[in-house]
Amino acid sequence: MSRKRILVSFILMAVVVTISGCKKTEPQPEAVQAPEFRWQIDQFADLKILRYQVPGFEALTPSQKELVYYLSEAALCGRDIIFDENYKYNLTIRKTLDAIVEGYKGDRTDPRWEKFMVYVKRVWFSNGIHHHYSTDKFLPEIEPDYFAELVRGSQGVSFPVAAGQSLDDFVAFLRPILFDPTVAPKKVSLDSTKDLVTSSAVNFYDGVTQADVEKYYEKITDKKDPTPVSYGLNSRLVRKDGKIVEQVASIDGLYGPAIKQIVFWLEKAVAVAENDQQKKTIEALIKYYRTGNLKDFDAYNVLWVGDMQSRIDFVNGFIEVYNDPMGRKATWESLVNFKDLEATKRADIISANAQWFEDNSPVDPKFKKKEVKGVAAKVITAAIIGGDCYPSTPIGINLPNANWIRVNYGSKSVTLENINYSYNQASLTSGLGPEFSSSPEELERVRTYGGQAGNIHTDFHEVLGHGSGQLLPGVTPESLKNYHSTIEEARGDLFALYFLMDPKTVELGLLPNVEAAKSAYDVEVRNGLMTQLTRIQPGKTIEESHMRDRALIAHWVYEKGLPENVISRISRDGKTYFVINDYGKLRKLYGDLLAEIQRITSEGDYEAAKSLVEAYGVKVDPDLHKEVLARYAKLNLAPYTGFINPVYTPVTGASGKIIDIKISLPEDYVGQMMEYGKKYGFL
Ligand code: ZN
Repeated sequence: MSRKRILVSFILMAVVVTISGCKKTEPQPEAVQAPEFRWQIDQFADLKILRYQVPGFEALTPSQKELVYYLSEAALCGRDIIFDENYKYNLTIRKTLDAIVEGYKGDRTDPRWEKFMVYVKRVWFSNGIHHHYSTDKFLPEIEPDYFAELVRGSQGVSFPVAAGQSLDDFVAFLRPILFDPTVAPKKVSLDSTKDLVTSSAVNFYDGVTQADVEKYYEKITDKKDPTPVSYGLNSRLVRKDGKIVEQVASIDGLYGPAIKQIVFWLEKAVAVAENDQQKKTIEALIKYYRTGNLKDFDAYNVLWVGDMQSRIDFVNGFIEVYNDPMGRKATWESLVNFKDLEATKRADIISANAQWFEDNSPVDPKFKKKEVKGVAAKVITAAIIGGDCYPSTPIGINLPNANWIRVNYGSKSVTLENINYSYNQASLTSGLGPEFSSSPEELERVRTYGGQAGNIHTDFHEVLGHGSGQLLPGVTPESLKNYHSTIEEARGDLFALYFLMDPKTVELGLLPNVEAAKSAYDVEVRNGLMTQLTRIQPGKTIEESHMRDRALIAHWVYEKGLPENVISRISRDGKTYFVINDYGKLRKLYGDLLAEIQRITSEGDYEAAKSLVEAYGVKVDPDLHKEVLARYAKLNLAPYTGFINPVYTPVTGASGKIIDIKISLPEDYVGQMMEYGKKYGFL
């Protein structure tokens, strides 16, 4: 395997907080410049829908455009898989909702219709009936009888009724699934006092308990294997005829009809691959989809991570395990992208200095990497997002996830520049910064430096943070079980926070001055202690890993800093603010926590992870929460964002051969979802 890498870079535009083999989600953006393009096209419930542009697409060669087109089709063909993974009845529900939207002949000016459509749009957004972020089931704000009326009033469409089932029986069957809050209330339960498997609605398991799952994988895991497969990654574990068996995703297996289509487009992509390495990479992915063998998946990943030369790149497969309470089974996702050639400098600098950062981190030397390998980073332009990346998408991705591949072959870290840009543009009118900043100086500092500091935060988190440190022999990432994701994200964030304020960062020209680092601290503190609470329903606790990570960090440094008044909590006109009094001491606290989090990770100290996360990352102060929600409500913002995709249309020449691909940017969320349902509904 060649060790030669081309290291590329980033330019992004968001003030962020967060991100493992990782998905960094939802920046907290603040203004940069005036909008002209219509970025936001819809808003409903707690969601808004944006568009993104694909700058540079036109300048790709016809062959590269053709490759993007084929990979994009492969990306969209997996849409049904994520619906089914999220909950076993999601596809039935979506098909039913789609049929009503298409065929209902009754009064569409009825206010109830509008409420119905909000529910439909939410289901599309979440790829199912559970909130994409909180993972709580959400209910339609209409009566069951009205729903029955909608079904009966739809014409010229068919509903996914079971064989021999009448339409009335079908509606009765759906009723508790849609309207009863006690049926499948939670997609992913991380409540360790309950059976994580049976209390989660995700469709990775059927008829088995947490103990069954643990026992099953304990038995088949070869602990001595230095290159273990990611056991269970692409399968569903079920009890069948009294026996526990894995149903494996493949062209002839689980999700076969969708995978067949994915393979169809990947085969076309092979024919227009840019180079031999990329060709082999796509062929390896096809092989894996044919066999379902995780050894083939690893072989594909090794090739994929080694392909840094190609302009076009993609993610396509069962990748992230956030939605499995056992942290084992992956949701299907896809991203097609091409490298931003202009934005190279920053990542080059960071990658070139990766060893320096590792050597100088405040972590016990025995947990550090002696040799940091393959920190390959690039800034990319997203061309299409699919599966679990659509419509809510990450702003940074660091893959592959297999630890031994990362250690031996490195990882690729990408930042989705055009997605970040869209976030930022759309947030120009947001009043979030003015409402929650503790002073005009803080507001001004974040406005001046927030975007830039946010970019470096993301880069450090993805490129350095997740790539840093090492596990002691015998420790695996699964050691931390349901706390793994939170601890891993906290590790990434703390690495970033600690080094943002290092003089080296200014010396390398990554940030202009220490004020920029301060702006990142301002945002991190107020987000972790306050503003992210806007995403939590009253009475709920924090569930999502990135949010737990941010809460954990902020509450820990706040508490540990109390004796020296590092951060003070003030109240002005009945409003709470947090003020950082000593940035240097705060940095020291970030370093202390990083050292402990790295120890927990390296030793696989489950008990320590549990007590840290439960003490600082989960609970919500109800009074502060109430206040924050009230302040936020006045701003009339939607806390979560999703994107609709561009459309790629082939232009054929006289011979029928594709000679060009045209891109267009639609503005119709409902239209795109209905089209996807028809065009990519394979399961
Ligand atoms: Zn991360």
